[in-house]
Amino acid sequence: MTNTITNWISGAPVHATSGQQQPVYNPATGVVTGQVQLASHADVDAAVASAKAAFPAWSNLSPLRRSRVLNRFLALLNEHRDELARMITAEHGKVFTDAQGEVMRGIEIVEFACGAPQLLKTDFTDQVSTNIDNWTLRQPLGVVAGVTPFNFPVMVPMWMFPVALATGNTFVLKPSPIDPSPSLFIAELLKQAGLPDGVFNVVQGDKEAVNALLEHPDVQAISFVGSTPIANHIYEVGARHGKRVQALGGAKNHLVVMPDADIEQVVDALIGAAYGSAGERCMAISVAVFVGDETADKVMPKLIERTRTLKVLNGTNLEAEMGPIVTRAAHERITGYIEQGIKEGATLLVDGRGFNGEVAGEGCGDGFWMGGTLFDDVTPDMRIYKEEIFGPVLACIRVKDFAEAVQLINDHEFGNGVSCYTRDGHIAREFGRRIQVGMVGINVPIPVPMAWHGFGGWKKSLFGDMHAYGEEGVRFYTKQKSIMQRWPQSIAKGAEFAMPTSN
Ligand code: NAD
Repeated sequence: MTNTITNWISGAPVHATSGQQQPVYNPATGVVTGQVQLASHADVDAAVASAKAAFPAWSNLSPLRRSRVLNRFLALLNEHRDELARMITAEHGKVFTDAQGEVMRGIEIVEFACGAPQLLKTDFTDQVSTNIDNWTLRQPLGVVAGVTPFNFPVMVPMWMFPVALATGNTFVLKPSPIDPSPSLFIAELLKQAGLPDGVFNVVQGDKEAVNALLEHPDVQAISFVGSTPIANHIYEVGARHGKRVQALGGAKNHLVVMPDADIEQVVDALIGAAYGSAGERCMAISVAVFVGDETADKVMPKLIERTRTLKVLNGTNLEAEMGPIVTRAAHERITGYIEQGIKEGATLLVDGRGFNGEVAGEGCGDGFWMGGTLFDDVTPDMRIYKEEIFGPVLACIRVKDFAEAVQLINDHEFGNGVSCYTRDGHIAREFGRRIQVGMVGINVPIPVPMAWHGFGGWKKSLFGDMHAYGEEGVRFYTKQKSIMQRWPQSIAKGAEFAMPTSN
């Protein structure tokens, strides 16, 4: 039996008026498990109208009362953590423990947002001039929207709406149509937590729904996470319509292996960060940069062995290290890149094509399966190096020294995450300072910043100025107002024509 996935408007599930729907698959089995209804322009209008109507009361609540709602939501999330993780595995395919980790990283943002009263505390200066005080307010924007990718159907929306709601905005979420079910579950939990109707809405769908949000005069800001071409489009169109935009894009993340690195640790890091979540993470490591042939030659045999013996299984199997690819189309795209790499002259050490789904588990014969793929002798001019593959494909590249490694990475058009494995404190420090990438790991393969630090890349990995969540998230979802005040008893007689100063 398949289920119908609707929109969520004014605190209730609402059918789309477009009459259009799209199948939702279990990628492990290739079986259609649901139909997601695609929102029309009119559905988006209804969601925005509902969020607009809810804004005056929600924004006027004290931050503490808003944070109490989020605290109740947090408790419900903790209660239903595994249920959410199972939903992710069923529609995305990632292994259950990875899905649990995703939910946990989302929960951390809710924990951060529960500190709304502290986050909204601002500056006050007493006596800026005789009897005059000056202070700053941060006020919510109004209706804000979030457009999110398939690869983190719980965590990425939670980079956005907890902070937006905590700071007094109302929200319209447009999740990926590939794994839409968690968005409705989240909406239900928010309602159970006591969130007033209309404060959080969901519109399902794709391009049409996004464009309706982008052009809507009542949407004040858009947070987007997805691929670079769409991020660029969202940034340009959003800005043209006068909106505040943060648009996080694609990635090509390098891990530099210095000659002094611990080889076992490097192999563990590369295997986990390249093939975890089938490489479908914006912080996945897709390029290993070996400093010196000797370093590469020490790592390579172990890397080949571990890639060959990856436990590629249905994500519901607790033994699984890697699940299926999210869709048939993504499977075809990744296969195309592997063919491209061979054509370009890279050395194919492990070939993930042709992995037989039956091996993955019972009923998996028609799933979107692929094993891990490993290329050596990759060069910077190859498409498999330049472009984001977003699958379980690791490209190995060799450079002569540290300076060449830094240059290589700085020349790449993406700048999301990066990592360096070394025991040398000076190299680590230089790396952190000189690398043109937004999120850096030193002996940490996937340096996703904590909830209070903010997430975002550089270059083509982020369009806009502010990172997601953390203090930058609070700034993104609020506008600053400065108030200068004095009282009649202290105002001297006579008009002032000179520019006011503190004298
Ligand atoms: P995507 O760009 O295809 O889709 C993202 C969102 O945009 C979805 O909600 C989708 O429905 C919508 N969309 C798609 N085409 C559109 C169009 N033409 N006009 C308007 N909206 C459109 O991305 P995806 O395949 O869902 O996710 C994978 C991508 O996301 C990868 O490139 C990955 O690197 C990136 N990503 C980046 C980050 C980050 O923080 N930088 C995090 C996660 C994922």
